[in-house]
Amino acid sequence: MRAIELTEDRWDPAAYPLHETLFAQANGYLGIRGSFEEGFSGSSIKSIRGTYINGFYENEKILYGESAYGFAKTSQIMLHIPDATRLRLAVDGEPVFIDNGRLWAYKRYLSLTGGILVRTVDWESSQGKRVLFCFERLASLQDPHLLAMRLTMRPLNFFGTIEVVSLIDGDVQNIRNEEDPRVGSQSEGFSLDPVSLEALAKEGLAKMILKTRHSELTLGCSIHHLLAPEPCESPLAFCETRQAAIRYAIRVHQGQEAVLTKIACYTTSLETPVAEIDLFLRQKGAHAIQEGFEAYATAQTEILSRYWCVAETTVEDQPEIERALAVNQFHLYQSVGKDGRRNVASKGLTGEGYGGHTFWDTEIYMIPFFIFREPNIARKLLEYRYGLLPFARERARTMGHHQGALYPWRTIAGEECSAYYPAGTAQYHINADIAYAIRQYWQVTQDDDFLVKKGAEILFETARLWSDLGHFNPERDGQFTLEGVTGPDEYTAVIDNNYYTNRMAQEHLHFAAETAKWLQQRYPVEYERLGRSLGLSEAEPAEWEEKSGRMYFPPRDRRGITPQDDSFLSLRRWDFKGTPPDHYPLLLHYHPLVIYRHQVCKQADVVLAHLLAGESVSLEQKKRDFDYYEPLTTHDSSLSPCIYGMMAAEVGYPDKAEAYFTHTLFLDLHNLHHNSVDGAHLAAMAGSWMTLVYGFAGLRTPEGTLSFNPILPASWNGYAFRLYYRGSLLEVRAQHASVTYTLMEGGAIGFRHKERSVQLTRQRPKLSL
Ligand code: BGC
Repeated sequence: MRAIELTEDRWDPAAYPLHETLFAQANGYLGIRGSFEEGFSGSSIKSIRGTYINGFYENEKILYGESAYGFAKTSQIMLHIPDATRLRLAVDGEPVFIDNGRLWAYKRYLSLTGGILVRTVDWESSQGKRVLFCFERLASLQDPHLLAMRLTMRPLNFFGTIEVVSLIDGDVQNIRNEEDPRVGSQSEGFSLDPVSLEALAKEGLAKMILKTRHSELTLGCSIHHLLAPEPCESPLAFCETRQAAIRYAIRVHQGQEAVLTKIACYTTSLETPVAEIDLFLRQKGAHAIQEGFEAYATAQTEILSRYWCVAETTVEDQPEIERALAVNQFHLYQSVGKDGRRNVASKGLTGEGYGGHTFWDTEIYMIPFFIFREPNIARKLLEYRYGLLPFARERARTMGHHQGALYPWRTIAGEECSAYYPAGTAQYHINADIAYAIRQYWQVTQDDDFLVKKGAEILFETARLWSDLGHFNPERDGQFTLEGVTGPDEYTAVIDNNYYTNRMAQEHLHFAAETAKWLQQRYPVEYERLGRSLGLSEAEPAEWEEKSGRMYFPPRDRRGITPQDDSFLSLRRWDFKGTPPDHYPLLLHYHPLVIYRHQVCKQADVVLAHLLAGESVSLEQKKRDFDYYEPLTTHDSSLSPCIYGMMAAEVGYPDKAEAYFTHTLFLDLHNLHHNSVDGAHLAAMAGSWMTLVYGFAGLRTPEGTLSFNPILPASWNGYAFRLYYRGSLLEVRAQHASVTYTLMEGGAIGFRHKERSVQLTRQRPKLSL
């Protein structure tokens, strides 16, 4: 795989906060935004620094002016933890900042193949002393507790002293924003309170242990150093209220390099007993500093080369598109939790937007991506949901359900964190979304082990919730109706029989019933055990099947439109002509009730249902619904354009498909929603890959089989991607004249290309059609 980089060729202060997001680094456990180690001399440059640990949070009491029974009580907020990348630099006493002194040259790049961020700065002090600095760092994919950094300093025209103060900066707080629900926290920024601070000059070690105020979690962070050549004076160690540091004075000679290696190590009480944190930091840090920066950099490249081997996606003669796809796929891989205990937040580990919460974004956008690229990671994400089952059961009881489990709309550790229930808790479809991801995962991987040990239990418990929520409604010919929910479209809330919800619940109930039958036949002992532990009656699966079969859908109107819910089509249409462009997103300019009273969609709803569960819906119907809902959709949610892109490709609008693809692809790179500074939109990033694969290549998995219906955007010459299906690796290469399928790895694979059935074997691994 050739090297791919995200580059910045000149210093542009205005782009800096966006680039803090785009140049963020993570390994699924630890994440750091792409901020400069040394910071700035003044405050005129906007910067949002951030270091995060996936799953490490503080509790924040949700304050309601008027509360009601069952409202979520506490939110969990991903904490901005102490910043161990901090350096204070001075050349012969003069502080080094990019916004101070003279800048001769600047370059920064994030290597997507090397997993390393490199910044070179050729800087001159007011006394005319010029130094070439090279800052390198990585969030280790080999050992997720580590950040490895290297600073190389080369004086270009003087002999003198460079002072480096390397610190852990614990004086950090989360962003506070009361106006925009999508940003940060509502209350005073959080702080972690230090339990102990330590700095040892001889060992080149500084260390900090801190505790959260409410969630009772402990965090430990250390930094270890190695300097070559040795410093001219003995290093100095010091601690301040929230800082622990080591100071080095380095005698430098023109043209000779001095190199400081710094290893930061983090752990928390979530995975290390509190009493062992100190030792953990000492041992791991000491080992890592001996290993050296280069060793971690090499491991990083190896791990990433395995990732890109499958993930590499080509778009012929379109380097910008190809690179943007790589950037998006890189961030997904960086941010995703890989240990079954952590998920992926809607902004990943790139920023604090949405409080670091996990939503349905994972199951509907990101898991489909991982299922086909890194099935093990997809499994880990589902295992995370399994771990949350006790919370989901409890939540169901609070919500008045006598049986089953209701997953939180947004959470970190399991409790429902949505303060605004109409666009939060009411999104019961989260249960069906998780079931959808389990089904897709199992169908594509055939991982029985997961389904038997964990998946079935989630499926049954969440299916029970639909049973409890719905009823056979005499007013609807005895069909099974679901009232008082919100579908994906958050501009229409707490309504009855949302099409998406009913459709996905229908699939869910059916799959749960099928899984029960399958388990009973294939794994009777496990079925018996699970049935006993859940108190599952023999009749229950049959009831799920019946409810699925008698699921109610609001009848189409005289134009043949699929109603989004019972009342949507009778509302007034939103006055789009009279809405000034700066009044988008509507949620920041209109009271929710005003929005709810109109036909206006924040995001795909019926159209999404047609994508995920549209096998029995005719193409004509899908097109009619696309035509109807598209002009009503503002795409104020970044999750929306990609869905329209995928469906545009299916219903025969290739130009629209391309436009939606381009929008989704560059959503963060070009800051199209004006809020990428708060973190990248991970669902949209996955959505860009999905638009290529589900949209242009027309991938579908009817009943778990694989089928393609490729088209090529008019301005493209070709594209290619790879995916895993049942253990085999398939490459799909589409060009104007033909589509070539190649079996790259694994046993024979069967799929459909348009109407045709295709079989590739080891003997006949390639076919052009
Ligand atoms: C969308 C939700 C999404 C959330 C987090 C909201 O704007 O409407 O569907 O889950 O953002 O990405």
